[in-house]
Amino acid sequence: MSDCLFCKILAGEIPSDKVYEDDKMYVFKDLYPKADVHLLAIPRVHIESLNEVSDEHDGVIAHMMKQLPKLAKEQGLEDGFRTIINTGEGGGQVVFHLHIHLLGGKNLPGFQ
Ligand code: AMP
Ligand code: ZN
Repeated sequence: MSDCLFCKILAGEIPSDKVYEDDKMYVFKDLYPKADVHLLAIPRVHIESLNEVSDEHDGVIAHMMKQLPKLAKEQGLEDGFRTIINTGEGGGQVVFHLHIHLLGGKNLPGFQ
């Protein structure tokens, strides 16, 4: 956990472009955006991936899911948005602190 990139962002040790935060989650702009809007939503608690989510995380996971549509609307994504969670190396996960990609806008690429 000590060398977790997103834990360092949460601790303010690595800069990030913050969009939203509360006691359970933190949301910031992806450094290499794949669409007009590309945010990353992370729990404050370090969870490696969806594989490590358990009953104790019910509250934070439900909270994050309910915040996403609000965040999308605040970004001007009135007609919809895409969420992606990459899980494990086989799922394309590069940073092992659970994160939800929130993407949208005119240049949203097709989902392959
Ligand atoms: P994933 O492949 O699902 O693990 O996604 C990791 C995401 O983190 C990628 O979309 C990267 O562009 C993004 N990323 C990597 N480093 C940073 C950083 N320092 N600040 C913001 N986003 C980052
Ligand atoms: Zn972490």
